[in-house]
Amino acid sequence: MRAIMGALGLMDESRDDVLLAQIEAFKRRAPLLYFVLIVNVVALAATHYAAAPSLLSVYVPAGVTVLVAVRMVAWYRRRDAAFDLAQARKNVLLTAVLGSLIGVVLVLWSLALYPYDIERSGGYLTGHGHVVLFVGITMVSCVFLLMHVRAAALAIILIVVPLFCGRLIIIGQPIEIAVAINLVLVAAGMFHVVLAFSRDFEAMVRSRTELARLSRQNAELANVDAATGLPNRRRFFFELESIAGDSVGFAVSIGDLDGFKQINDLYGHIVGDQVLREIAARLAALAPAGACVARLGGDEFAVLLRGEDVEEAAPDVCQRLIAACAAPVVIDHLTVHVGLSVGLSIAAGDGKGPLEHYERADYALYRAKQNGRGRVELFSSEHEHLVRQTSRLEQALRRANLDREIVVMYQPMVDARSGRVISFEALARWNSPDLGAVQPDAFIPIAERSALIYALTRTVLRKALQDAAQWPQHTGLKVNLSVRDLTSSEQILGLMNIIRSSGLSPGRVTFEITESIFVDNLNLVQASIAALKALGCSIAIDDFGVGYSSLSYIHHLAPDIIKIDRCFVAGLCTDPIKAGIVKTVIELCQNVGAKSVAEGVETVEQAEVLRALGCSEFQGYYFGKPLARDKVMAFAGSGAVEVA
Ligand code: C2E
Ligand code: MG
Ligand code: MG
Repeated sequence: MRAIMGALGLMDESRDDVLLAQIEAFKRRAPLLYFVLIVNVVALAATHYAAAPSLLSVYVPAGVTVLVAVRMVAWYRRRDAAFDLAQARKNVLLTAVLGSLIGVVLVLWSLALYPYDIERSGGYLTGHGHVVLFVGITMVSCVFLLMHVRAAALAIILIVVPLFCGRLIIIGQPIEIAVAINLVLVAAGMFHVVLAFSRDFEAMVRSRTELARLSRQNAELANVDAATGLPNRRRFFFELESIAGDSVGFAVSIGDLDGFKQINDLYGHIVGDQVLREIAARLAALAPAGACVARLGGDEFAVLLRGEDVEEAAPDVCQRLIAACAAPVVIDHLTVHVGLSVGLSIAAGDGKGPLEHYERADYALYRAKQNGRGRVELFSSEHEHLVRQTSRLEQALRRANLDREIVVMYQPMVDARSGRVISFEALARWNSPDLGAVQPDAFIPIAERSALIYALTRTVLRKALQDAAQWPQHTGLKVNLSVRDLTSSEQILGLMNIIRSSGLSPGRVTFEITESIFVDNLNLVQASIAALKALGCSIAIDDFGVGYSSLSYIHHLAPDIIKIDRCFVAGLCTDPIKAGIVKTVIELCQNVGAKSVAEGVETVEQAEVLRALGCSEFQGYYFGKPLARDKVMAFAGSGAVEVA
């Protein structure tokens, strides 16, 4: 049996796909094949009923018909069934063996009927003629219908032709010899067609299998992050969305690495990628079974936790992930440190869907980053309140008539030596008809996150330039710019046009830049700064020492002024570390040729210390709070401000 199976190609595993495709194609044709056989057998038996003995005209055809009918019904029943490999193997074998057997029986039967000729006058078809026709059309139709099961089709040809044609040739009559030659030629043609068809069929099945494999591989690649091997953002959202709308028992946590940008800047992207891989491996190893750990992009990872006890377990899991990431990462001979901040949102039967929990986790992450990093922040009802407030503010800002509602205040800056007011910083205030007076700390970050900042900056600049035109000559104007402004060349061109058409000398204008949001296109920022400088404006780095501002910023932006953040000035007289930092920054300014401005000077003692350290300018409540535009002239004209 194994030999037969081997000969039929049933033992060759590389042909498994072909085998399944063969049986798939054959199962729909099989009932028709057996039906054709029955019709042919019954027709031949009927024409020989009177002439031949009942063994040949009744019993043999009846036996064959019953056997064939049983097979026909069996195949018909399985016309929609799916065959596995073992069943496919068994059925191809059975079809080939049974087909050969039926072929032998039918040829022997037709040869046995051949001598019982039915003489008919007038040149009509004779009994011989019908037998030949029977063998011919039965062979052709069987081969045609068995085309997909090559072994069976070839077996039919190889059995029928030698047996039947051999017998006809032995009869030796010219007409029999002619019929035999005719049949042999037809059979040879069919043999060739079967082989060609089967080759094409196999090639077609193989390419279909390869196509399916490639599209499976493609689907896998589309869902995997190439750098870390973790599921990617797309896969994570697929998992997230597959959670039933209001189901309880899941938690979404989003983690963002602290200090990763610096590693990338300092050691390059190859080391950065290795750090990401190591962190990914730690997260994947620590996450509980059933969790989906994914890389969302950049240095952002997410873990989707599921399970009945997720409410109690999720904060612990996040703590463990944070602890694991805090361990040093060793790459070749280099040891680097990163941290992980995590935002967590737990589904607790509040009717919120998975995507809403994702948004909440994202918001909680933003808070975790703001409130000290390296920690997990769980989305709470307080956050819910803040989110609502933010969205109310954003809506109102979108509707606002900026020209009417934005008011600019001016805070003086004084020269450390002479005590003279040398410039004013423009600070925006928003008088909203719906919300009342809104402080910049509340609305600037919201404007920065949307494109609203562009119109806001233009409004402040236009108004400030108009006011500054009334000030004494040489009194400078400082205007705050968001980093977002600097990433739009269209905005920069707009700002330059506003300055040009104001008539104020660009040399009187300084732009203060705080890096409050992450910049990923430093080249564009540098180009914008170069354009503003080329116009004649100066550049200041605002709030130096906090947020994202770093030494590499000074290197890239080459500022004219560095403003020391007021948090360092606040403890200057009591905290030796802060005093040390301020001293170092002032020295840094001297070394890079920039002026140093101390922010938030509130006491005379602070001013004295700062002056002794060599600070160039002061700004703070001690010298003057932000003033309304109509108070500026009086202040600017008041001359020197007394410093101790
Ligand atoms: P900033 O640019 O660092 O502005 C200085 C902030 O410190 C002002 O707050 C000012 O009132 C406050 N300040 C000045 N001296 C002292 C002091 O002695 N003690 C204390 N405690 N605070 C002092 P304000 O006006 O609330 O502005 C907050 C921030 O909002 C600004 O910080 C700036 O980053 C942003 N901002 C304000 N106006 C604009 C604007 O038109 N565009 C942009 N992009 N940002 C703006
Ligand atoms: Mg400022
Ligand atoms: Mg500042």
